[in-house]
Amino acid sequence: MTSPKPTVLGPDATIGILGGGQLGRMLALAAAKLGLRCHVFAPNPDSPAFDVVHRVSNHDYSDTEALDRFAADVDVVTYEFENVPAETALFLSARKPVLPDPKVLATTQDRLFEKTFVASLGIDTPRFVAVDSAADLAPALEAIGRPAVLKTRRFGYDGKGQILIRDAVDPEVAWREIGGQPAILEAFVPFEKEISVVAARGRDGRVVCFDVTENEHRDHILKVSRAPAAVSAEIAAEALAIARRIAEAFDYVGVLAVEMFVFAPGGQPKILVNEIAPRVHNSGHWTLDGASVSQFEQHIRAIAGWPLAEPLRFGRVEMTNLLGAEIDDYARWLAMPRTSVHLYGKTTVREGRKMGHVTRLVLEP
Ligand code: AMP
Repeated sequence: MTSPKPTVLGPDATIGILGGGQLGRMLALAAAKLGLRCHVFAPNPDSPAFDVVHRVSNHDYSDTEALDRFAADVDVVTYEFENVPAETALFLSARKPVLPDPKVLATTQDRLFEKTFVASLGIDTPRFVAVDSAADLAPALEAIGRPAVLKTRRFGYDGKGQILIRDAVDPEVAWREIGGQPAILEAFVPFEKEISVVAARGRDGRVVCFDVTENEHRDHILKVSRAPAAVSAEIAAEALAIARRIAEAFDYVGVLAVEMFVFAPGGQPKILVNEIAPRVHNSGHWTLDGASVSQFEQHIRAIAGWPLAEPLRFGRVEMTNLLGAEIDDYARWLAMPRTSVHLYGKTTVREGRKMGHVTRLVLEP
């Protein structure tokens, strides 16, 4: 099945977004700034993106009649989360251009395919092996050693679907705990830092990256991002080159994020790629207030066939996620100088749920 060729959108065009979370909401706000309309398709009636868009389709991703109507209403389709069912993306791509190409989803939805793809580009990852059954686990542990991290191949995020196997852990129990699903076993990396690069690639093949960002997680959920990352110029250049190589290898159009570990065995820092997010990313939220163009606008420009902007960072920037009940502190953040508050309009608070974020800017002389 061939997809319709994407055309350069006019400023009155409509962008279709699959997924209605905060990323879809911030994409839609960026599109609106450029005069573009958005139509969000999402199954959850409480989707935060619904509040800010021209049109919504509140249906299941398998509802082909609703998908047909959605496709007829939009000029290009994109997504704000990577677990869009492959069939949905394929169904739409027969009707309208879908960017980034759905083949990227097939790779990034599966940790084994993703890491194999990254390794095939000559980029280092933590050592990994496939674990398809409980019986595979003992030889896998033999090959990787302990501690190791067992991760489900699909549908893992924010530390869900993964377990650290230390010396005392019974592999059988670990296997049951991740639901006995196809998995990979990775070497545990005693990293110095977690960093990420948010890169945009235009339809013309031009790649523009934001500065390398340093990320701090709590309970596997991103808590704070700082830009620029406190890494050497060599590590920063290598991180940017890795993101560029991945974007080019996918023939990518839009924004993607590459999450990496900086690991220094014997004092010599090197980079290992942990994960690719084929979408705008939480570690790029600082760009909304800390740079001359945001990751959301870059994504919209890319899929519209418009030129990418060259981002200028205004200073040192720190982004803090408001997780769960931390949203109750919003008034305190509002009163802080050089601080920008973003609340996602979510009505239900759950522990660890991303309810908003704040950005603090330290201007450099
Ligand atoms: P992931 O879902 O793969 O992004 O993992 C979530 C978090 O778990 C990462 O951001 C790391 O903090 C940690 N983690 C994942 N894989 C490893 C690993 N191989 N070694 C050490 N920490 C890891």
